[in-house]
Amino acid sequence: MKITNTFDVIIVGAGVVGCSIAYHLTKAGFKVALVEQKHVGSGASGANFGMVQSNDVEIKHSIPMVLKSYKRFDDLEEELGMSIGFRRIASLRLLSSESQWMNSKERASILPKAGIPYEYVPPERVVEIEPEVNLNGLYGATHASYQGQANPFLLMWGFLRQANQLGLSLFTFTEVNNLIIQSGRIVGVETTKGNFYSEKVILATAAWTRKLGELIGHHWNIHTFRASAMVTERFPDLRLNTIVTSADHIEMEINGPNDAELTVMALSQTEEGNFLIAQADRPGEVLDGKISHVAPKAMSTITTRFFPILRKARIIRTWTAPTTYTDDGMPLLGPVKDLDGLILAASFRSAIVNSPIAGEIVTQLISQGYCDLIDIIPFAPERSMSEADTVYKVKSTKSKSNEMPD
Ligand SMILES: Cc1cc2nc3c(=O)[nH]c(=O)nc-3n(C[C@H](O)[C@H](O)[C@H](O)COP(=O)(O)OP(=O)(O)OC[C@H]3O[C@@H](n4cnc5c(N)ncnc54)[C@H](O)[C@@H]3O)c2cc1C
Repeated sequence: MKITNTFDVIIVGAGVVGCSIAYHLTKAGFKVALVEQKHVGSGASGANFGMVQSNDVEIKHSIPMVLKSYKRFDDLEEELGMSIGFRRIASLRLLSSESQWMNSKERASILPKAGIPYEYVPPERVVEIEPEVNLNGLYGATHASYQGQANPFLLMWGFLRQANQLGLSLFTFTEVNNLIIQSGRIVGVETTKGNFYSEKVILATAAWTRKLGELIGHHWNIHTFRASAMVTERFPDLRLNTIVTSADHIEMEINGPNDAELTVMALSQTEEGNFLIAQADRPGEVLDGKISHVAPKAMSTITTRFFPILRKARIIRTWTAPTTYTDDGMPLLGPVKDLDGLILAASFRSAIVNSPIAGEIVTQLISQGYCDLIDIIPFAPERSMSEADTVYKVKSTKSKSNEMPD
């Protein structure tokens, strides 16, 4: 078979977003190359918990996008012809202080009106939902009854398997070193395995997007932090009913990159009984895959503060990946200004839930030149970002007990 280096569309980055875009574009009949510097899922998509969450949505402009995408999960297994390990599960965010609740209050008034159940529950209700939670110092929780979880590896494979059958050309261990521009438009990419040509290039490169932008003189507002995780042995003494998180991330986002030193907890249990525990680290431009030496201890400290019973659980593996955020909590999604043919699909808050619609939106942009599924203007890569995410504006006090150890 003759290998060609010219395509209708080139997608850079085979994370969950790139894989979804590859699926939707091949399904629409395009000849597509998916170019990945390492292996599929080697970025954050191979490191996450697969939470399909609508409750964490940026509330000013992102609700229609998240709702539409969340709905796709109802039929996604049937559509992809395989299990993606999807289950409905509620989520509980533990609040340690009144100020954490104040930060969630606006969300609690907006989300239910949009059809996303989300409410405050007092400590006595928290223990009915999760009987092993330590009530000491607990202010309450927010409860989102209609969330979900998928297996992120199966989700990526589901998209890719379909795309492969529809003629996708997948190039792994192929790094894009530069973007080729002629007369103000993109015409291809330079890679470690030679040049590929196309007049449509999609960057689904998450934490690496800023670096690629700088090569062509664009300074996209996208920041990186290291999110780490660990998994325990099976631990039969605790059976979780929900996905449990702590609210400290709110403080981290408020305090910003220079002042952030809090750990957040995300705790989830597999069907087999292992516990997945995650945390967010200090923001910083981190692209390596090295876990910080304080992360396992920080994760253990905060998790056992809320669930003392887990002191007896044994850790079997830890890992980390660079994750992104933008100043206004919205993705960089849409055509790049003044550079015909280049489209960004990067830095989704809750990328798992948004992955199906990311594929649909980019496919519309390629096939018809505009998107009428939702309004994507607020997500324009070159927006000013003066509109910060209001949910996180209120200052709140830090709790000493969950600061990262030095
Ligand atoms: C521990 C942890 C838990 C998380 N839990 C959740 C969760 O439960 N739910 C949720 O929604 N989100 C979660 N996240 C965040 C989520 O994982 C990310 O938002 C998501 O994976 C981003 O997907 P992506 O496809 O945009 O980026 P990535 O998966 O990071 O993919 C980008 C890809 O681009 C490739 N690339 C970059 N530059 C180049 C180049 N020059 N040439 C070729 N390839 C390139 C990278 O190698 C990478 O594979 C979690 C993250 C972590 C780390």
